[in-house]
Amino acid sequence: MSREDYEIVIGLEVHAELSTKTKIFCSCPTEFGGEPNTHTCPICMAMPGTLPVLNEKVVEYAVKAGLATNCEIARDSKNDRKNYFYPDLPKSYQISQYDKPLCEHGVVEIEDDEGNPKTVRLTRIHIEEDAGKLNHNEFGGGSLVDLNRAGVPLIESVSEPDLRSAKEAERYLRKLKSIFEYIEVSDCKMQEGSLRADVNVSVRKKGETKFGTRTEMKNMNSFRAIVRAIEYEANRQIDVLEEGGVIEQETLRWDDVSGRTFSMRDKEDAQDYRYFPDPDLVAIRLSDEYIEKIRKELPELPESRRKRYMEEFKLSEKDARLLTASKYLSDLFEKAEQITGNAKAVANWILSDISRILNEKELEADQIPFTAEELDKVIQLIEKGTISSAIAKKVVEVLFENPKDPEEIIQEKGWIQISDEGAILEVVKKVIEANPQSVSDFKGGKEKALGFLVGQAMKETKGKANPQMLNQMFKEELSK
Ligand code: ADP
Ligand code: ZN
Ligand code: MG
Repeated sequence: MSREDYEIVIGLEVHAELSTKTKIFCSCPTEFGGEPNTHTCPICMAMPGTLPVLNEKVVEYAVKAGLATNCEIARDSKNDRKNYFYPDLPKSYQISQYDKPLCEHGVVEIEDDEGNPKTVRLTRIHIEEDAGKLNHNEFGGGSLVDLNRAGVPLIESVSEPDLRSAKEAERYLRKLKSIFEYIEVSDCKMQEGSLRADVNVSVRKKGETKFGTRTEMKNMNSFRAIVRAIEYEANRQIDVLEEGGVIEQETLRWDDVSGRTFSMRDKEDAQDYRYFPDPDLVAIRLSDEYIEKIRKELPELPESRRKRYMEEFKLSEKDARLLTASKYLSDLFEKAEQITGNAKAVANWILSDISRILNEKELEADQIPFTAEELDKVIQLIEKGTISSAIAKKVVEVLFENPKDPEEIIQEKGWIQISDEGAILEVVKKVIEANPQSVSDFKGGKEKALGFLVGQAMKETKGKANPQMLNQMFKEELSK
């Protein structure tokens, strides 16, 4: 049998760090970074005798996430201890939720590989605390523990095994990320580990109804790595099965450098964790009023923004979808549109040059280093005729490297458009003289020759000549 006879099955467990000001069970700051062990207190360092108190904001944010993903919100919920030992977990258990998660039975809408709408089911969203970080000393000096992250609140969103390709998994994760960004429960900065996914992969023969045995790759925090890892792992499993082997249920580590997965440990079952209700915390009871209040306060979600962009700005469905796929892009669009009043131009810049550069540099939208004001300035400089759009593209490239006032950039680089008639006429005459063949082609009726001559003049002026004036003057000179 060949690879095409197999189907890939994927389920994701996505951890998002909540952007509450303080940790889940103490009042230490959740801020990323900081000197090791400075965002800590006796509670998150698990000193004996300390007691946790649940941060109400964590519940509110999790309910928001649940409502935005169409979950049922539990009126009755609780915290449980998940027992395991690891040096970054000072209590030797993690406070999580076991059988009574806050949110269940959600759905997230994505597109499948053919572009058709597809519903991915969310099993649950629960709250839990993050662990600390181990800094391994590569020179053999042991490992140092930093507990700044210990007790930072997380929501874990568990999907059903509904995903069927690496790209589909990527689209699902992007959608979930964008929803969390829109409702502002997490900054979802993957590079800082605010959003990370455990990726479960299995394969089965097409037409088979039972799922195959899955393997799990933990803590993945880049889209590119996730796609590569799923494709590698699915192929590895197919090879094993084709050779008559069996898949072991295990936890794997993806190595981005070698592009391979490695075995870490056998998979534990829920029973290994000896879950039990945390006796230090009271149960969580939510009233209908509380939930309805949060529902009413939910901000605009991507779907509704998309529709609004189509109506208000007359953008195509595709453009509106691309813009709203990321809250950062969408906010950049709205801010720049408000200043320029030119939705089309702003959308074009974001969807063509800016998106292209993001792709080339493998950056996410939240890593765009310049502001809406700076983008707006570029557009105004074109409208005023100070720079050509060819130069504007170069300005945007510079903005990515060294964001500052675009006017300063063009001054420094000497990129101001030449709109001086005398200077342009000089270039036009020079080009006409140097290209007698094109001149006679044009005079003989070949319109295309004009484009060539204009192009030559642009080259001559390094893209700085005003294109309308060039066209005009060539026509005048050639009709003499
Ligand atoms: P845990 O990993 O903590 O044991 P679960 O048993 O709930 O948790 O499963 C976790 C994830 O694994 C879920 O996202 C689920 O969709 C996915 N999953 C379960 N079975 C399979 C399978 N056969 N193939 C791929 N993914 C699977
Ligand atoms: Zn603390
Ligand atoms: Mg898991």
